[in-house]
Amino acid sequence: MDMELKIESGAIETLAGVAEIINQNNREKMSVFCPMCDQNQRKSPDSHNAAVFIDNEKIPFLFCSSCKSRGKGEYKSGSFYLDHNEKYTIQSKILNRVVFRDIISDQYFLGDKSKISGEYNINKISKQNISNALKNRKMAIPDIIDEVEYFHDFSKDTVIDVENGFVNRYIPTNYMLINPKKGKKTKIPETIEKLMRHICGNSDEIFTSLVHNLAYCIQNRKKLIIAYLFQGTQGTGKGL
Ligand SMILES: [Zn+2]
Repeated sequence: MDMELKIESGAIETLAGVAEIINQNNREKMSVFCPMCDQNQRKSPDSHNAAVFIDNEKIPFLFCSSCKSRGKGEYKSGSFYLDHNEKYTIQSKILNRVVFRDIISDQYFLGDKSKISGEYNINKISKQNISNALKNRKMAIPDIIDEVEYFHDFSKDTVIDVENGFVNRYIPTNYMLINPKKGKKTKIPETIEKLMRHICGNSDEIFTSLVHNLAYCIQNRKKLIIAYLFQGTQGTGKGL
């Protein structure tokens, strides 16, 4: 049931949109004009006659007193609910939780954003376990699992963008989200510098060029077209 609702501000929103506003403002409900009622037939068409509420499972529903008195809505209660696909979409947005199938690897994943650290955790899940995992998290089970391309895109901070069929294997660390201060100079930590010099064959020239290249890579979020060939004992961290 895809409803368009006129809200308090006069703007038109979907039920999902209203749910997001309620959620963002920590409200319990929001008054709306009932889309099931013919507003011109009402005695006072300029005042709200319905409201959107959020239930315990973070799912919005519409209640309209006029509809109730005319025996409309589910069980003639004046309440209108979403179907399970729409419920999943809304819960997924509000709870920052998503299941998807990666079309590149043909594998299923469950992504969760930690409420404490705000970081995403994306783990492989078998297809059979999806409904159980969603039920455990009090989420509706969609008929169709979203399909996305799951790959590294270092140039983007976005992690989950199911609407555009993309989930990022690259998750920016907190360091990447810091805005660098202009002119601020820092030193390379001693041990890391020692390692970097070592893998560069202790050449000042190559070391300086590596530092510049790494800085370019981080600052511009672009891949290098230069390849370094490192040598060193196994386990020294050349891969990093
Ligand atoms: Zn109504």
